[in-house]
Amino acid sequence: MEFTIQTNQREEIVDITNEVEEIVSKISNENNKICIVFVPHATCGVIINENYDKAVCDDILDFLRTSIPQGKWKHDRIDGNGDAHIKASIIGPSEIIPIKNSKLQLGRWQGIGLAEFDGPRERRIIVEVI
Ligand code: ZN
Repeated sequence: MEFTIQTNQREEIVDITNEVEEIVSKISNENNKICIVFVPHATCGVIINENYDKAVCDDILDFLRTSIPQGKWKHDRIDGNGDAHIKASIIGPSEIIPIKNSKLQLGRWQGIGLAEFDGPRERRIIVEVI
C-alpha cells in the first residue's frame, strides 16, 4: 500500500507515523512481521527519531545544512539540487520496523519522518508488511 503527502518547505521532516500505523493495522494481524517504509524519490528520505521535541528534527536539518551546503555541487548545473541528493543518500530511502500484535514496535520517543530536502513536492510513501 502507499499514500502521498504534500511537503511545504524546501527542507523539513514531516511526521508520518500515524499514516504508517494505520496501514499496518489494516494489513497485518500477525506477529513477527516487519514493516518496510520506502520512498521512491532521489531527494527525500525516511528517518526514525524523536518526534516529541520538534527541536530534534530542526537540529538534524541544521546539521545536514551546515555539513552539505547548497550551490557547490556538480549536479547543480542540471537542476540546482545537488545538496538534496547527498542529504537523501545519507538519510536513506527506507526504514524497517518490527511488528507485534499489529503494532509498530517503535520506542516511546521514536517516530517515522519523511525527510524532505527539495520541496515543496508531493511525495509517495510505500508501506509493505512481510
Ligand atoms: Zn537533481
